[in-house]
Amino acid sequence: MKRDKSEQLFEKAKQYFPGGVNSPVRAFRSVGGTPLFIQKGDGSRIWDADENEFIDFCCSWGPLILGHNNSKVREAIVTAVQNGTSFGAPTQKENELAELILSNNKFIEKIRFVSSGTEAVMSAIRLARGFTGRNKILKFEGCYHGHVDSMLVKAGSGLVTFGTSSSAGVPESFVNDTIVVPLNNIEAVKKAFEEFENQIAAVIIEPVPANNGLLLQTKKYLQQLRTICSENKTLLHFDEVISGFRLGFEGAAGYYGIQPDIITYGKIIGGGLPVGMYGASKEIMAKISPDGDVYQAGTLSGNPVAMAAGIAQLTECLKADFYSLLETKTKKLCAAVEDHARSKGYKFRMFNIASIFWIAFTDQENIRSADEIDAASMSKFRVLHSELLESGIYLGPSGYEVGFISEAHTDTDIDKTIVAMCKALDKVFAQ
Ligand SMILES: *Cc1c(COP(=O)(O)O)cnc(C)c1O
Repeated sequence: MKRDKSEQLFEKAKQYFPGGVNSPVRAFRSVGGTPLFIQKGDGSRIWDADENEFIDFCCSWGPLILGHNNSKVREAIVTAVQNGTSFGAPTQKENELAELILSNNKFIEKIRFVSSGTEAVMSAIRLARGFTGRNKILKFEGCYHGHVDSMLVKAGSGLVTFGTSSSAGVPESFVNDTIVVPLNNIEAVKKAFEEFENQIAAVIIEPVPANNGLLLQTKKYLQQLRTICSENKTLLHFDEVISGFRLGFEGAAGYYGIQPDIITYGKIIGGGLPVGMYGASKEIMAKISPDGDVYQAGTLSGNPVAMAAGIAQLTECLKADFYSLLETKTKKLCAAVEDHARSKGYKFRMFNIASIFWIAFTDQENIRSADEIDAASMSKFRVLHSELLESGIYLGPSGYEVGFISEAHTDTDIDKTIVAMCKALDKVFAQ
């Protein structure tokens, strides 16, 4: 496969950007080699600068649930852009997207639009602290919540710990208000609540943790979190930046039937343009300025072009059977590749939920916490990733990342991918 153009572009990019990229995982450091510079996307396909064609399962890390260059989304953007790009004043488009969301989601009453998932989480944490008058936030090892200072924290040693910063530049004083516990361990949560009684503003969790493998939690566990939060007047914050509009229109809250106190969204909501959102009850949202005293603002918040893209995309997601069709394709892919692996005796699983899948080199029935992931198995992913690129299949360049199926993936795409993955696995396990 030719890589000349991508290699040239990457050499240039390294002069301009740290690591040659504007977001670290794009640099291909965990799989090695040169990142592909993408020229074009259409439907399930992307083309790189060397004109190689791939079936794309990264889908911009989740936002593109309709695939690339969806005609409805594109036309909505083009129409909106003809009236100007930004006003810093309210527009009708914000009302339209809000109405579309709120009339189809019973878990939130009022919302605010922001411009990224990180911004949504950052704002929601401030809101939880402002609403409860408490400072501490409890998070889980293995969940990602964007690059918010207080969330760039990893567990120390021990079951319940103040985290240690996972990034330089995050002061220890920030980290001291973040408590980190393992996933799938309710005793650790109880212990944290005993230790920090009346101090925890919010428990933040990806209800479907999908940023460090796919660490599916049980419904019972999520319900237990709900109960503990209610008993302690702590807000339960579902970070649904991936799961929102992905597990169903009502995201994981709807999927599990659990009412969180605050929900954050991003990715799919913007139809491929930068939109984030946080939402809660009217009572909690009344704390946000200008109604309340928790300040939060944004020059480009509710941007009309981004709103138009979001409206077009979410309208498609409301079609009958939209989510079940995605799930059927996902299950077909995962089951077929797992069958092949099982018949050959490979330690290999494709964990999945709705239209999210994760490739894991394990024979465990479930992986529910970050410490169960075998770091050494990532060398196998590296081989798999490179073999798949050679056969025209593009996965996100890290074994800790999940894959996404879009509406645009056809049955033929899935069949082609099954063949390519089985072949690639044979190579991986022949080494
Ligand atoms: C992607 C993601 C974020 C961060 O969103 P950005 O738009 O990248 O800032 C936050 N939380 C979760 C769960 C995510 O998946």
